[in-house]
Amino acid sequence: MPAPVVVVGAGIAGLSFALGLRTKRDVVVLEAGDRAGGLIRTDREEGYQCEWAANGFLFDGDFTKGPGLVLKELGLENEIVTSADAARKRYLIHRGALTPLPTGPLAFFRSPLLSAGAKLRTFREPWVKTPPPADGNESVHAFLARRFGVGIADAFADSIVSGVFAGDAKALTMRGAFPRATDAEAAAGSVIKGMKSGGKPGKLTSFRGGMQTLIDRMAGDLGNSLRLHAEVSAIEPHENGVTVRVNGDAIEASDVVLATPPGRTASLIAPINQDSARDLRSIRSARVAVLVTGFRREQVRTPVDGFGFLVPRREKMRILGSLWTSSIFPGTAPEGRVLFRTMIGGMHDPKALTLPGRALLPIALRELHDVMGIDGDPEFMRVYKHDPGIPQYEAGHEEIVKRVASRLGPRVSMIGNGCDGVSVAKLLLLYERGLAFQTQAGTRAGVAG
Ligand SMILES: Cc1cc2nc3c(=O)[nH]c(=O)nc-3n(C[C@H](O)[C@H](O)[C@H](O)COP(=O)(O)OP(=O)(O)OC[C@H]3O[C@@H](n4cnc5c(N)ncnc54)[C@H](O)[C@@H]3O)c2cc1C
Repeated sequence: MPAPVVVVGAGIAGLSFALGLRTKRDVVVLEAGDRAGGLIRTDREEGYQCEWAANGFLFDGDFTKGPGLVLKELGLENEIVTSADAARKRYLIHRGALTPLPTGPLAFFRSPLLSAGAKLRTFREPWVKTPPPADGNESVHAFLARRFGVGIADAFADSIVSGVFAGDAKALTMRGAFPRATDAEAAAGSVIKGMKSGGKPGKLTSFRGGMQTLIDRMAGDLGNSLRLHAEVSAIEPHENGVTVRVNGDAIEASDVVLATPPGRTASLIAPINQDSARDLRSIRSARVAVLVTGFRREQVRTPVDGFGFLVPRREKMRILGSLWTSSIFPGTAPEGRVLFRTMIGGMHDPKALTLPGRALLPIALRELHDVMGIDGDPEFMRVYKHDPGIPQYEAGHEEIVKRVASRLGPRVSMIGNGCDGVSVAKLLLLYERGLAFQTQAGTRAGVAG
């Protein structure tokens, strides 16, 4: 019998890949922690459903392709919940106040978020001919400024970026962070035209029981192939496969797939290739804390009638934004209560993560109070810290990933949010990569060094 393929790390990336792979190969998933899911975890406490990291993913409801394939394989079609229609309303903080993001042309022209000149410039986008820089490293801010004008870039770039990456809009590349927009430009010569003709991005989707439902089903399907408390300390490629060192034992694998965060992947490959390890360590990650707070409905003077709000940096607030979870996914808070998920930290405020939860909470509560008019303390609070957090796709990231992958040799590969995109929707696509995985055993021995 051929040796198994070993997948290191049971985050959503490792789980998705392993589920595809196990249809044709013996697979062993080794997870250092005491549970599967990595960053993703849902706790249900005192009637509040709390997500540690991802609270959903964009899905168009098609179970015949993309993320739908693995969801169908897991039989999760009937467990899916999509965001409430109310969640279409989104806010930005503007001059200290909640200000709705315009959803139609009329609202756009009336919006105080942009000057008249900036609004008019937006409509010229389809005719902008300036090409992107050839190196593919154009930042999110520079992309928006080139296509839509500096007014739009200044007003929205850092909120868009902090909402997804907790990152820096002048450092993250548009191609790395939002490839749909750069693909749209490449295909149609215009983002607006290209987006119109492209497929719909889908609705924010989760599951009854939250994201944990997905993780539990994935882990359950893998059964004994998934081993917890199994921290891999070394991988040693050789002529016939790879020796994987774990808890003092050695497992012989035909191939190893590293589904670990970039810093951990760097440590595991350092003995094989120092340059690659150095390259991976140069990928920065945003350290973020999620503050979950539950209030009685009558404590909040603002109508909690939307997705939540983001905070542009010029507002000089400490929180990055707050999602109104109980309005997005009704049923995530007890009757008569509201649940908020507030982010703090990120690339502009890494020091926030050095503060203990009891110091972060008053900062967030004060700012939530100022924006939403909240009376009194929350009846429920939790703080979840993520360090390393979210990898940043900054200038040179694409080249780093290509360079490292090319040096890993035929039997070792890497997947996960450091190289395949940070969103759950992207990482679920690794199921198809698992289905298509071909062992390179026999084509070339060892690992290039
Ligand atoms: C606060 C926050 C909010 C987010 N919100 C969203 C959202 O709303 N929507 C969305 O789509 N995405 C969101 N994301 C991003 C998304 O959650 C992550 O990108 C994704 O979960 C990462 O999955 P992964 O498998 O690549 O990595 P991880 O989840 O980091 O998994 C890696 C696993 O490898 C294990 N491991 C590490 N070293 C070893 C070792 N030596 N041996 C064995 N195992 C090891 C770890 O224990 C871990 O379980 C959010 C992220 C954060 C932090």
